Amino acid sequence: MKAIILPRISDVEEKPLQLVDLPKPEPGSKEMLVKVSACGVCHTELDEITGRTPPPEFPIILGHEIVGRVEKKGKGAGKFKIGDRVGIGWIHSTCGRCSFCRDGNENLCEKFLATGRDANGGYAEYTTVPEDFAYPIPEKFSDLEAAPLLCAGVVGYRALRLTNIKDGDTLGLFGFGASAHMIIQVAKYKYPNSKVYVFTREGQKEHQELARGLGADWVGATGEDPPQKLNCAIDFTPAWNPIVEAMKAMERNGRLVINAIRKEDRDKNSLLKLDYARDIWLEKEIKSVANVSRKDAVDFLPLAAEISIRPKVQEFKLEEANEALLLLLQGKINGAGVLKIG
Ligand SMILES: [Zn+2]
Ligand SMILES: [Zn+2]
Repeated sequence: MKAIILPRISDVEEKPLQLVDLPKPEPGSKEMLVKVSACGVCHTELDEITGRTPPPEFPIILGHEIVGRVEKKGKGAGKFKIGDRVGIGWIHSTCGRCSFCRDGNENLCEKFLATGRDANGGYAEYTTVPEDFAYPIPEKFSDLEAAPLLCAGVVGYRALRLTNIKDGDTLGLFGFGASAHMIIQVAKYKYPNSKVYVFTREGQKEHQELARGLGADWVGATGEDPPQKLNCAIDFTPAWNPIVEAMKAMERNGRLVINAIRKEDRDKNSLLKLDYARDIWLEKEIKSVANVSRKDAVDFLPLAAEISIRPKVQEFKLEEANEALLLLLQGKINGAGVLKIG
């Protein structure tokens, strides 16, 4: 099969991914072999390539927003039929026994294995998945549309849930890429009386236009004052500055959820200038979102279909993975980048 491998940690600018020919993987017990048709391109790949969340072994096949069809089943696999369309996300497997797993917080399991980091992912013609960690995809979505739902959508949905938003609350979204452009649609649908304010990097005209088109009540640059204080906010960026600016704009008792697997190193001049009295006092909270649980995917995919979320997709060929990741790094993908495979 054709596959794109990451041979070592390197700079994204070096275009390190290599097209190779590998044997088709064999599904193990209770696993399935999936013929991949689409795989989304996610910021986490940038973190893996540069070593901020390094794969434990090389080479590795990246990619964790996978849509494909079941081609073969391993021993004991019985949940899906051959030919079924399934989605695979960041959660590849967990232990199933620890207190986190038992309490429904499997995303926090110490044995959490990630697709495309700890196990080979979807930048390839085939991949394998434990059947318990694959999801049916609602018919409404094409393969390309469904791919970004599986990470950008699902983790964004988890972040929105963790903000504790109620209808009528003001919501701030910092950064407006693949995840935020879907989550604004969920917020507008579930919380019709809430105002959504979108903050982007200065001059990101295309992202700002997209935000307005999707119903943002106000759009500005990070650091500008929104029309009202924020009751809750999600920071989708890899930068430090939005944390400070979000907390400055936060109403008392407000909560910021940081949806980023890693943050860039702090600026020497310290962009992290949180002021206790102004930014933290009066029961304001900062919380991160880590990974996803299966329930997030199981809840989000039908909701996305019900809302008719239309992910805006920029299509690339499998061979163009390096270019797609570079554009993502530069903030030049409008919506979500997806590799079309096969
Ligand atoms: Zn992702
Ligand atoms: Zn566990």
